[in-house]
Amino acid sequence: MEKLLYTGKAKQMWSTDNPQILRVVYLNQATALNGKKKDKIEGKAVLNNAISTLIFQYLNQVGIPTHYLEQISPTEELVKKVEIIPLEMVTRNIAAGHFASRYGVKEGRSFDQPVEEMYYKSDKLDDPFMNASQAKALGLVTQEELDVMWNLSRQVNFILKRLFAQAKLTLVDFKLEFGRLADGQIVLADEFSPDNCRLWDMETANHMDKDVYRRDLGDLVSVYQEVYRRLQTVLEK
Ligand code: 5GP
Repeated sequence: MEKLLYTGKAKQMWSTDNPQILRVVYLNQATALNGKKKDKIEGKAVLNNAISTLIFQYLNQVGIPTHYLEQISPTEELVKKVEIIPLEMVTRNIAAGHFASRYGVKEGRSFDQPVEEMYYKSDKLDDPFMNASQAKALGLVTQEELDVMWNLSRQVNFILKRLFAQAKLTLVDFKLEFGRLADGQIVLADEFSPDNCRLWDMETANHMDKDVYRRDLGDLVSVYQEVYRRLQTVLEK
């Protein structure tokens, strides 16, 4: 019997007959401001699943260890069961969002070196900023695990910056989550979609990500469709 294990803001996790495999169900849900803004958006689940599938398949192919196994329906995928490490690992190539507002700089300023930030994944506490010594003091990760996570984040940034550039999109910033497999190996988990990254159109500078929803800039579904279309074109080559 499959059991619902967890309902998040935009996904559900279900158990399967195989204890090492979970089923993810994407929901037609968009949230922002840590869930304070929330809407049902028809067609969003299919697009998040489709985009994340393209990206995780690509990352698996180039050797990044991920939890992704296969897409089984337009809104569902199978993933390896992991113990999620409750840290949000953010990488920024260009100032935007909270970096711009927190430090009083204009959005669009690019950095010589990517900026790396960590947040404690806790809805109750509003995902507070967390440094490595705090994460270790709380027993969330070891230094060795943090080294692996940042190393993988840097590789993902290098690989995806190039992929999105081919699709005429600038990868401004993104958030990754990692988990431990049963044997302790760290793998990339969660999803990679315009829900957890910022993408700016290289020609028009238009927002092609969830900022369209956060900032009420237009129709989210048509924007995600365009991101999917461009990625598919690039990956089919
Ligand atoms: P910021 O800190 O500027 O809000 O976000 C930086 C990047 O990380 C953005 O690409 C944003 O989408 C992503 N991000 C940060 N926190 C979260 C979160 O709680 N959920 C999701 N889906 N993405 C996040």
